[in-house]
Amino acid sequence: MKTITMKFGGTSVGSPEAIQNVVGIVQAAYEQGNRVVVVVSAMSGVTDYLLESVRLAEKSDKWGYLSLSQKIRDQHDEAINRLISPGVLRDQTHHRIQKLLEKHVELCDAINILGDATPRVIDSVVSLGERMSSKLVAAALKAHGLDAEALDAGKLLITDDAFQNAMPNWQETEKRIQEQLLPRLEEGIIPVITGFIGATPDGTYTTLGRGGSDYSAAIFAAYVDSDEFIIWTDVDGVMTTDPRLDKRARVLPHISYQEVGEMAFYGAKVVHPKTVQPILNKGIPIWVRNTFNPNSPGTLITDEIRESATVIKAVTHVRNISMLTVSGAGMLGVPGIAGRTFLATAKAGASILMISQASSEQSFCFTVPDEKAQAVKTAVEDELRAEINHKNVDGVHILQDVVIVTVVGAGMRGTPGVAGRVFTTLGNHNINVLAIAQGASECSISFVIDEKDLKNAVIQLHDLALETVTNGI
Ligand code: ASP
Ligand code: MG
Repeated sequence: MKTITMKFGGTSVGSPEAIQNVVGIVQAAYEQGNRVVVVVSAMSGVTDYLLESVRLAEKSDKWGYLSLSQKIRDQHDEAINRLISPGVLRDQTHHRIQKLLEKHVELCDAINILGDATPRVIDSVVSLGERMSSKLVAAALKAHGLDAEALDAGKLLITDDAFQNAMPNWQETEKRIQEQLLPRLEEGIIPVITGFIGATPDGTYTTLGRGGSDYSAAIFAAYVDSDEFIIWTDVDGVMTTDPRLDKRARVLPHISYQEVGEMAFYGAKVVHPKTVQPILNKGIPIWVRNTFNPNSPGTLITDEIRESATVIKAVTHVRNISMLTVSGAGMLGVPGIAGRTFLATAKAGASILMISQASSEQSFCFTVPDEKAQAVKTAVEDELRAEINHKNVDGVHILQDVVIVTVVGAGMRGTPGVAGRVFTTLGNHNINVLAIAQGASECSISFVIDEKDLKNAVIQLHDLALETVTNGI
């Protein structure tokens, strides 16, 4: 008997039709004799509505948050009425969701009175999306005669109190899963667990960051010792590049943990960057598959590195980036400037996607999201005030509207000439490269270019990756 953990994303549970597909997929796996653990996102759009309701409550727009709450209710009510025939189960499900929506209004009322929402309250509000969808999906499974039970990850996934981006407490989480989840699986129950959310040891809701359902599902997959982890989404798998930029984009049949980690970090939206972390040591195979096209095989992700003739497997990008350069003749050999710069950046709440330094040590650059650029510049200049006054550092220069493009392929390690091919290709197409960095894992190369060159760069580099799919695998 195999244990399969399945995560269904927001669009996969976003409409009655989608949930009907989910039921079919879960039922088939269960009837084949597998233990099935289901992890769900909120219905699509709901997390955004909940966050928006917080903003409206802060502005005392009571009509605004009440009407959003009503919208969320309509979305769930419609699904309940379409999926569950009239009777006790339908009434019970309406009632459960109703209670959570009452909670929503209470929390918004409280924010309205206080005029300000703490990260802690925001997490309680957004936790409602997954708490509702898990009840809905469990009920839809029950309506088909399956023994499903909605489970709240607030009791299972224990975290620290870094609200909005909480870190799991691995030991406590493992213990809770062993005590509360495994016995249910033994009994043949199909647990339908809330993705994205956890709680502190004292039971206050936390969330793992936007898109975090993949990450939480991976944690459950690891601790129930899954034989397989399937991420059900709305595309056929991990693609060679973004099909909106190059229509020739294709599904990769296989990719390694490390490669997919780099792709996710550098812009591929298909899985959350932290997804592989809990799975890594256990070597559990991950599948990315399409709920709306279950016959398509999807992408298999394992620890195996399959090398291919042309090395480059995929091209990803991140938009809305600013590149900040710290320069100054007096920086040569002075330790600590980079360290202090990055610390100041972190304190300004910005995450750095890429760092690059020229060997002359007279400047280095790093990238942050556009909206943080100004705050980071100020924070770094404050930190380096003494050096700037002594003219050892010139200051921080911002270059806006640039993009990071990343080419990924594990075979780069030990294959000379890959970077050469990448930059020759760019040069041949007159694309100016502003900065370059290679990941320490040597399975990706990232570079910064102007936004206007993005499409051309992706298409030209994707040419190199396409050969991989046809020749290599
Ligand atoms: N519902 C959450 C979000 O929209 C988590 C997820 O879907 O993975 O970010
Ligand atoms: Mg997602």
